[in-house]
Amino acid sequence: MYLPQFKYLKPGTVAEAVAMLSEYQGGAGVIAGGSDLIVKLKHQIVNLRYVVDLKGISNLYGIVSRADEMEIGALTKLSAIESSPEILNKALLLAQAASVVGGPQHRSMGTLGGNLCLDTRCYYFNQSKRWRQSRPPCYKTGGDRCYVAAKSPMCHAVYSGDTAPALIALGARVRIVGPEGEREQELELLYSGNGKRPINLDAQSIITSVIIPISPPYAGHAYEKYRLREAVDFPVVGAAVALSFEQPGGVCTRARIVLNAVGTAPSRVEEAEKSLLGRKLEEALEEAAELAYQSARPIHRMGGSPYYKKKLVKVLTRRALEKAGSMAIGNV
Ligand SMILES: Cc1cc2nc3c(=O)[nH]c(=O)nc-3n(C[C@H](O)[C@H](O)[C@H](O)COP(=O)(O)OP(=O)(O)OC[C@H]3O[C@@H](n4cnc5c(N)ncnc54)[C@H](O)[C@@H]3O)c2cc1C
Ligand code: SF4
Repeated sequence: MYLPQFKYLKPGTVAEAVAMLSEYQGGAGVIAGGSDLIVKLKHQIVNLRYVVDLKGISNLYGIVSRADEMEIGALTKLSAIESSPEILNKALLLAQAASVVGGPQHRSMGTLGGNLCLDTRCYYFNQSKRWRQSRPPCYKTGGDRCYVAAKSPMCHAVYSGDTAPALIALGARVRIVGPEGEREQELELLYSGNGKRPINLDAQSIITSVIIPISPPYAGHAYEKYRLREAVDFPVVGAAVALSFEQPGGVCTRARIVLNAVGTAPSRVEEAEKSLLGRKLEEALEEAAELAYQSARPIHRMGGSPYYKKKLVKVLTRRALEKAGSMAIGNV
């Protein structure tokens, strides 16, 4: 399968990149590691006349540590994140999630920014042009129907990026630069919840970095992912958990549970989070896992039956809670 023709642009600064995206509006898109975009270009799922390569922008790389937070450049490779002593020490949850993205080749090409901006996936969408041409287009490809949920007015393609749930659990923010300048926002707000256009980012803006607050003492985290091919695969379901306690073995003071690959965006399970607050983990764990099970609404034909995926949500949430609890009391 060949790459279609496009003009390759390599800006040296963020301002240049934004100017290029603004000039060729509609026909231009950014490439970072290319591990997702190149496949989509070959399948003609996206058609770009201009590809703006961010890899020449030196200040988009690296990890900066400050007293209460750390900032990671959007072009930092996932392989660097999974093995960085700084991240392993201060944001282990992100390192865990990065270490299970695809296979080693994807992680040595794939970047943090590219992983966060991963498009949603669907059996009827992630196919070659010829395959898709065998039926009329669906919402995501400009048509007026959905093959997964025939009566639905919207696209239900699934978000499966691994680092977003981990970072949302950690309370991360993203720095974005566009024609109007720079802004910072909660990472959670990057996800629209509409499978057709899942990332709330206009075509002229880029993510430049991710900012992670340093967790308080007595905190524990875990990311649990189930995939069909252990060596290289998207999650069937993922669950990221971040907990803080007043003291080792004490009551829970902060809880975040974020599910992955059960909907069009990484989703927090707020009822389950609330059920943990002010209680010891062992007293609240089963209830929280049950609430996660009840809240999950996976759709059929998305990597497993809805019932199977819901059961996985419960099992993975319980496991992640147990591991986070053990980490908080220093047993990991
Ligand atoms: C076989 C296979 C298995 C995979 N398994 C997994 C998996 O298990 N988990 C997983 O999460 N991913 C998986 N992936 C997808 C992909 O490899 C990773 O998500 C990777 O991190 C994408 O990063 P990238 O830098 O290569 O992104 P690119 O392909 O360069 O870009 C992806 C998207 O993000 C946009 N983008 C990139 N950087 C920025 C930025 N700084 N600002 C704004 N937009 C930006 C691009 O325009 C594009 O739309 C898999 C891919 C393949 C082919
Ligand atoms: S969920 Fe429906 S609209 Fe979305 S890509 Fe799949 S078939 Fe198309």
